[in-house]
Amino acid sequence: MTIKKPCAAFDFRLAEMRSIAIKTSMTWFLWVNILFSLFILGRRYFSTFDALTSPLSPQDLLESVMVIDLTLSVAVLFILRMAPLQHANWLRKLAKVSVVGLSLCWAICFYVLIASEDIRIIFPFAALLLFTALISLYFDPKVLLSFIVPVWLTILVTTLFHPSSLTVLNALLWILLAGLIESGRRILNSWFLLALRREQENADLIQQLGQLASKDPLTGLANRRSFEARMDDQEILNHQRDGIGFGLIMLDVDHFKLYNDYYGHQQGDACLVAIAQTLEFATQESKGVVGRFGGEEFVLLLPDATLDMLLNTAENITQALRTQALPYVLSPVNPLVTVSQGLATWQPGQTAPSIIARADKALYMAKQQGRNRWVAVQ
Ligand code: GH3
Ligand code: MG
Ligand code: MG
Repeated sequence: MTIKKPCAAFDFRLAEMRSIAIKTSMTWFLWVNILFSLFILGRRYFSTFDALTSPLSPQDLLESVMVIDLTLSVAVLFILRMAPLQHANWLRKLAKVSVVGLSLCWAICFYVLIASEDIRIIFPFAALLLFTALISLYFDPKVLLSFIVPVWLTILVTTLFHPSSLTVLNALLWILLAGLIESGRRILNSWFLLALRREQENADLIQQLGQLASKDPLTGLANRRSFEARMDDQEILNHQRDGIGFGLIMLDVDHFKLYNDYYGHQQGDACLVAIAQTLEFATQESKGVVGRFGGEEFVLLLPDATLDMLLNTAENITQALRTQALPYVLSPVNPLVTVSQGLATWQPGQTAPSIIARADKALYMAKQQGRNRWVAVQ
């Protein structure tokens, strides 16, 4: 299984997912810690060891660390249940610290058990605990290793110095277990990364599709669908709330069919792209949004604009096109490419379709009056 080189967005998502996963997995891991420490504590009352009954014995130390383990697990479990997910980064730090604390408790516990000759219970019990840690924390190597290393090392070293003939074999078994845990961690982690990468790719694809669906492919401007959605969702609601008006300009290229017929469709496309750029430039100052409404029609939305500001923008557009001087020798209006504009301002209570219809009507009037001009309606 090959994992591609991570990028910054992927790293960010990985850290986020680790934080989210830790909340769920830690809960299970803490419950296992609670059960295991209760088991060790419960053994004391069923055990026949002499050492268990003598005061200040290693078993007292064992009991103390198990009580600490139990208390820590319950406390962290409680915090995890209470904490909302948006504090996941902070939770991850808590998980790191608590995992080290739990690991030290278990390291002392296993040391005492080996020193008390209670070696039979150690390996299956410790192996179960380490595999539980692997399943709960495989996606976060640092947190996982902070639990595994102290426990694993303590058992290895204590076993090697234990006066039993089986110690070397036990140590070898223990090293084999480390190999199993590490290979298991790699496999689980690679699946985790692969799933995350797939999720990232799907999210990128959805974003790209969203952009494609909202943009006009020729000019790169917002298309009619996204423009109308914007008018409905944002502008009207915002302006309804604070009562400040906004303006709309509907704009149509004069005699564009004839332009296409004379210069060809390709040159017509280039002309539309050039006009789109000019419109974006001319509305930069007023922070206007330009869209292609369809064919050779464009629409401009000017936030917080009064009628004077609209007239000013319409004049800017006419001037900019005059400066750009796109030739149109056959034009019945002017030997350069010209546009007609319909201006309308939004009044409180008006809907998006009604302001578009008013701007369209003003545009029709501009055409009727001879083109290459603007008409405004209040
Ligand atoms: P008017 O002055 O009344 O607006 O006349 P007009 O010729 O501009 O308007 P009409 O609606 O008759 O024609 C619009 C033309 O725009 C027809 C069509 O070929 C052209 N057109 C629409 N979309 C595109 C496009 O994406 N590329 C090109 N090159 N031409 C387009
Ligand atoms: Mg038209
Ligand atoms: Mg036209």
